[in-house]
Amino acid sequence: GRRNLGRLRDLPAETRDGARVRLMANVELPAEVESARQSGAEGIGLLRSEFMFMNRTVLPDEEEQYHFLRGMVAGMAGRPVTVRTLDVGGDKLSDALGLRDCANPALGLRAIRLSLSRPELLEIQLAAILRAGVHGPVRILLPMISTVEELDAVREIHAKVVARLRQRGVPLPEPLPPLGVMIEVPGAALSADALAWRCDFFAIGTNDLTQYTLAIDRSDESVAHLYNPLHPAVLRLIQFTVEAAERAGIPVSVCGEMAGDPRLAAVLVGLGVTELSMSAANIPRVKQNIRRLSMIDVARQIQAIMAINDAPRIAALADALLIESD
Ligand code: PEP
Ligand code: MG
Repeated sequence: GRRNLGRLRDLPAETRDGARVRLMANVELPAEVESARQSGAEGIGLLRSEFMFMNRTVLPDEEEQYHFLRGMVAGMAGRPVTVRTLDVGGDKLSDALGLRDCANPALGLRAIRLSLSRPELLEIQLAAILRAGVHGPVRILLPMISTVEELDAVREIHAKVVARLRQRGVPLPEPLPPLGVMIEVPGAALSADALAWRCDFFAIGTNDLTQYTLAIDRSDESVAHLYNPLHPAVLRLIQFTVEAAERAGIPVSVCGEMAGDPRLAAVLVGLGVTELSMSAANIPRVKQNIRRLSMIDVARQIQAIMAINDAPRIAALADALLIESD
C-alpha cells in the first residue's frame, strides 16, 4: 500500500543480489524540486529548461536564468542536478525566439541545432548553468545531438564561455561540470562509440529515440498503437549505446518515459543502464520492483529478449520482470 511505498523512500534502489541503480527525477518547474526530494530521488536526472522560455516575448537573460537554476540546485541540497540546454523548436514554439513554422517540426531546426544556429542563446545558458554549479553539483546535458561535430562545436562555445567568466572574475565550480549528450536520435545511438570518447555521460531519451527509430510521431494518437519502446530495433540501439559507454568508461542514464515504468525500467537495468530518471511520482514503484528482482534472473531474461526479433514475444518475456507482491 501507500505506506509501504512511503517507507521505501530511504531504502536504496538495489536488486536482491546487490546491483545498485540510481533513481533520479525529471523536473520542469521549481515547485517540482520538493516532490523530487519527497520521492527519494537521488538527484535530478533531467531538468527541462524550456519552461523558462515559454509564453513570453523577451528572452530570459543570464541573470534570470542563473537565479532560476540556483534556486533549484540549492533546493536539491547537494544532490546532482542535470540541466538540459534548450530543447525547443518546431512544435515547442516560443514567441520570444520568433521561430517560423516548419513543415516537419520533429526534423527541423530544434534543440541543439537551434542553439548552435543562435550561439548567443547557448552562451547565455551555459554561463547561467556554470554559475549555478557553484551552489551544488550540476551536469550539463545537450539535447538531440546527432553528430560528433555538433558536440565539438558546443565544446568550443563552452570553452569560450568559461574563459569569459574567468576573465570577469566570476566564481566557477571546480572541477567544471560534466558535459553529457542525449542519445535520442538513431544516428547518435549508432555513433555512440565515437560520441562516448568526447563527452562525460550519456542520457538516453527513449521518447524521441522510439519516435525517430520507428517513425512514429510520439504525440499522434492515430499511430500510438505502433509506438513501442520494446521494439527490438529500439532495444538494440540502447544496447549498442550502453556497450559503447562501458568501453569508454562513462555512465549512461535513461530519462524517457520508459524509465518510469517498473517493467520497462527492469529491461533497462538488464541492458546495463545504472541510472533512471523519471517523474517523481513513479520513483517508489520503480524502486519497489528493482528491490524484488535479482540481477542474475534479469540478465538471463535480457539475454532471451535480445536473441529474438519479435515484438510480441519480447513483450511477453518482459512481463516476467514485473514482480507483483504476494
Ligand atoms: C526523450 O526524448 O526521451 C526525453 C527525455 O526528452 P523529451 O521528452 O523532453 O523530448
Ligand atoms: Mg527528447
